[in-house]
Amino acid sequence: MKKIIIAIDGYSSTGKSTIAKRLAKALGYVYVDTGAMYRAVTLFAIENNMFTSEGVDRENLLQNLDKISIRFAKKRGSDDTETLLNGNNVEDKIRSMEVSNRVSNIAAIPEVRKKLVEEQRRMGEDRGIVMDGRDIGTVVFPDAELKLFMTATPEIRATRRYKELLGKGKQVTYEEVLKNVSQRDYIDSNRTDSPLVKAEDAIELDNTDMGKDEQFERIYNHTMRFLKQEK
Ligand code: C5P
Repeated sequence: MKKIIIAIDGYSSTGKSTIAKRLAKALGYVYVDTGAMYRAVTLFAIENNMFTSEGVDRENLLQNLDKISIRFAKKRGSDDTETLLNGNNVEDKIRSMEVSNRVSNIAAIPEVRKKLVEEQRRMGEDRGIVMDGRDIGTVVFPDAELKLFMTATPEIRATRRYKELLGKGKQVTYEEVLKNVSQRDYIDSNRTDSPLVKAEDAIELDNTDMGKDEQFERIYNHTMRFLKQEK
């Protein structure tokens, strides 16, 4: 069967990565979490003391961009991948609230986006990829054969994220998570470079009242219909 690119975009905590991972596994495709790449750059800036009370020291970050190497490695004994920043496993660190609260400002910097988008395009050169993010169907792969745009109410998204973080033993409050999700949506949708918007040819999926299995089945069946027709 022909290999295609599947682009999954949408608001924060809409379950994009859960669906993308499952779809990639079912199709034998590569899964790429582009949010993890923006989170890794943010962690790099934090660990190198590039944040001041006024925000990030942009010049300093830009001068050091070529010192940032991000890779994904398969987690031992699991289908999951881990994010490596300059060779170190940072999968847990990049999911912290500290990173979540700063990542959208880092992701609004055009030079950061340019570097990461180039890397993402290279990863998709051979197609056979499911990539999730905010600008995959609009900027990274406008020619992706299948595009999904996921939404749900901010409250349901915050509830899901809050439970996930509690499950991982993180100390957070629901209010803190809701504020973070809403702030990221706002910054991501209003930045000048590659704002979060639904691609015209994307299928919108509001999963406020939909379980994970139902979502997966719908998307998987749609993908299979598409692939059979393309054969
Ligand atoms: O997907 P995730 O929630 O981990 O993404 C973290 C942040 O990275 C987003 O809120 C957004 O600011 C940024 N991002 C982006 N473009 C992408 C993926 C993520 O700007 N393609």
